Amino acid sequence: MVQETIRVYARLKPLGRRQQAGIYSVDDEKSLPSLEIIVPHDLADGFINNKRESYKFKFHKIFDQEAKQDVVFDNIAKPVAECVLAGYNGTIFAYGQTGSGKTFTITGGAEHYNDRGIIPRTLSFIFDQLQKDSSKVYTTHVSYLEIYNECGYDLLDPRHDASRLEDLPKVTIIEDSDQNIHLKNLSLHQATSEEEALNLLFLGDTNRMIAETPMNQASTRSHCIFTIHISSKEPGSATLRRSKLHLVDLAGSERIAKTGLGGHLLTEAKYINLSLHYLEQVIIALAEKNRSHIPYRNSMMTSVLRDSLGGNCMTTMIATLSIDKRNIDESISTCRFAQRVALIKNEAVLNEEIDPRLMIVQLKKEIQELKDELALVTGKQRTSELSQEELLQLDESIELFLKDNDPDSTLDVGADMRKIKYCFIHLKQLLNHSKASDKKQLLQHISEEKDANEAEKEELKKMKELLQQRNNEINILINMIKKEKKKARDALFQLNTASAGSTVLEQSLSINLNESRSPFSCSSLKEAKDFGSSFHRSSFLCRKPGEKMSLGCQEAFEVFKQDHADSITIEDHKQLLKQRFAEAKCLGEKLNEEKDRINHLKGAITQRHIQRAALAVSSPSEELNKLDPVEEKLRRQIEEGKQSYKTMFNHLKGLKIEIEHLQLLMEKAKMKLQKDFEVWWSEEATNLQV
Ligand code: ADP
Ligand code: MG
Repeated sequence: MVQETIRVYARLKPLGRRQQAGIYSVDDEKSLPSLEIIVPHDLADGFINNKRESYKFKFHKIFDQEAKQDVVFDNIAKPVAECVLAGYNGTIFAYGQTGSGKTFTITGGAEHYNDRGIIPRTLSFIFDQLQKDSSKVYTTHVSYLEIYNECGYDLLDPRHDASRLEDLPKVTIIEDSDQNIHLKNLSLHQATSEEEALNLLFLGDTNRMIAETPMNQASTRSHCIFTIHISSKEPGSATLRRSKLHLVDLAGSERIAKTGLGGHLLTEAKYINLSLHYLEQVIIALAEKNRSHIPYRNSMMTSVLRDSLGGNCMTTMIATLSIDKRNIDESISTCRFAQRVALIKNEAVLNEEIDPRLMIVQLKKEIQELKDELALVTGKQRTSELSQEELLQLDESIELFLKDNDPDSTLDVGADMRKIKYCFIHLKQLLNHSKASDKKQLLQHISEEKDANEAEKEELKKMKELLQQRNNEINILINMIKKEKKKARDALFQLNTASAGSTVLEQSLSINLNESRSPFSCSSLKEAKDFGSSFHRSSFLCRKPGEKMSLGCQEAFEVFKQDHADSITIEDHKQLLKQRFAEAKCLGEKLNEEKDRINHLKGAITQRHIQRAALAVSSPSEELNKLDPVEEKLRRQIEEGKQSYKTMFNHLKGLKIEIEHLQLLMEKAKMKLQKDFEVWWSEEATNLQV
């Protein structure tokens, strides 16, 4: 970083023969030369007051009338050009009233080669330097801008048909988000040699001249900025240095009052001064310490020179003076401005940036070099990918490491970043995988719990349904009890009948029991009884196989039965059956008795035979050979008994058929009763739910 105040120089224009010189003196003795201007007493206007007669101004260097262009260049422009070649920005601007020699200093005189000004000399110097320096690659561009009435014009427009300034391409200012200024439409022309650059300068000056007519002396009221853009980089380096040198020929600094013109020209004059006034404001702001806002935007010129006035720039000012007796006040004014500019501190820094394409090339080269170095050290050529064999080996090492319970165990893959990276990736994958499986287990657990919950819910639902069913049953029973009570009150006398009915039922049951215990061994009768009991078991009070009636339902069924018409039929059948069972029982007993009597008679005959045989042995008689009347009687009795037994047996057989039939009828009636009950029961349940 180069830090110093703006260098301010003074150049005095040689006076013409007719010009009356003002009184001034240059003091070169001290470190900073000074210019003293003495105000003649006879001067009536402007700055004159009686208190002061002379003004002293200090400059970095003062070039008196006889100073030649080469000396001016060597002293003023050369140091700046050197800085620009080193990568800093630079600005040289000439400030002074019209005719004071600004254009002569910046561009030069047209008559003699030696009158070449700062621009051609700087171009010559720069290209000379570029040629000498083979350590860097340089690229040079030039642009030439004229600002007139706050409008920018590109002087390097190659078309030669421009007869007015307005015919040239208009240049506008664009500010990006980083507050960088870009000039739209200002063409940048590459110049590979001094000759090309001078041709461009000539083109610009021609355009500037054509645009300037005697009626419209734009040069006095416009600013011209010739810029040399230089970029440099060292071969192989990605760092690019960019710098630019503005060579500025400002508009005349003379004040409006002095022009003495009205109308249109006055407006122009005002603009000129306004533009320079803004330049002055910027310079004052830059000179002030801790001033954060610099009013660059107020004019186009200050906007264009934003990055080239103070701050990051080597700025140099040349105050051109024409100390004619009539120009004393303007000269003093120019010097005062120069004094303010001299206060500004420059802090020029290198404009370096990285070219990404060059950076890639450079990095690639560096990688290759490192690879070569690595191969030299390890003795192996290393590729970017690990071989399949190496990968398998690493997998094995990782597995061993993970299985090893020893806390001191390590995973050593050597100083190979590819292997280290692979191990980390592999371990990460394993970790993620185990995390994923944990998650899966958790999900499974959750789903199992969910299933259990579902089962519990299902169970609860069933219980609820059962409860509802029981509730219905209770309600139905309550209704039935109510009805029963009413009925009981209405027909008290029927109570006995009802109780008798129940007795009959009990009797029927007791008969069944008695029958089972009966000594009567008639197989058919037994079958008949078994049939009846099996029927009772299999169908009565059983709605579906395996499904038993609830207790409440059974109770209800009992009550329902009492009111049902079919139950009377059943009762009738029951009575009849009971009767028939009793008859059968009685008949069975009689049959048994008859059987016993016949057997007894048979025994008596055998006894008689034995008696008669014994008698025949002891006292044989004729009579014994005759038929025994007693035996005959016994035989008749047996025959009679057999007859009676047969009759009774047939009767019993008939009874068995009747009983079977009655039992079928009864079953039918009971089925119907049960069905009716079921219909009624479900109806009652639905009614209750509604
Ligand atoms: P400005 O650009 O400031 O209006 P110019 O540079 O046009 O002034 O100068 C006006 C005239 O004075 C021109 O004819 C120019 O050749 C002449 N002139 C200016 N300075 C010098 C100088 N140092 N030596 C010789 N002639 C000069
Ligand atoms: Mg000029």
